[in-house]
Amino acid sequence: MDYVFPPQPIPSLPVFNSAARFPVRRIFCVGRNYADHGIEMGGDPEKEPPFFFTKPADAIVPSGQTIPYPSATQDLHYEGELVVAIGRGGANIAADDALSHIWGYAAGNDLTRRDLQAEAKATRRPWDMSKGFDQSAVVGLIHPQSALSDGTLTLQVDGVTHQTTLLSKMIWNLAGVIAHLSRLVTLAPGDLIFTGTPAGVGPLQRGQTCTVTIDGLSPATVTIF
Ligand code: MN
Repeated sequence: MDYVFPPQPIPSLPVFNSAARFPVRRIFCVGRNYADHGIEMGGDPEKEPPFFFTKPADAIVPSGQTIPYPSATQDLHYEGELVVAIGRGGANIAADDALSHIWGYAAGNDLTRRDLQAEAKATRRPWDMSKGFDQSAVVGLIHPQSALSDGTLTLQVDGVTHQTTLLSKMIWNLAGVIAHLSRLVTLAPGDLIFTGTPAGVGPLQRGQTCTVTIDGLSPATVTIF
């Protein structure tokens, strides 16, 4: 096929113990999937269907990079999260079958322009520019495995712990998240799902390094300059 100019390369992420890369198709993110974070953001932790927002696929930042403080914000926040990498697509996936669609897992950081998000909430406008900006999705090595035993997620800024939770504290478990999301869109191989952050979100300043660790996975680290 002829293009009017060369297409951009497919965004991709390195894979644990492999030279082959994971091609990223889309990035979905769950809002408020831990009750303690729902409360800190002024929400009601009662169980209601999960809601989703997105980031562009080329917003990914592989672990270990140094990135500039984003434009148009005075309040960049970290959000440590488990990231699920989809290997088999589908629509209306049953929760019982959902885990079989997972290719692997990674630690991630859902970087957020918190001031723009607060303004969007107040004015009932979309979250896109507060969540889906350039270099807003930090992702560690993807570990190819179908299951992840319950473990601890911890986020540190310059070695100081700000977030820690058991993954089992998610309101919607991974099967529930995949089942719900697949009713809204047809999932495809290469889709990433950020599964939500626990309490303790806060600002990241220039010069700081932020590390998300999850038991059994490689850390997701980013430095802001
Ligand atoms: Mn998040």
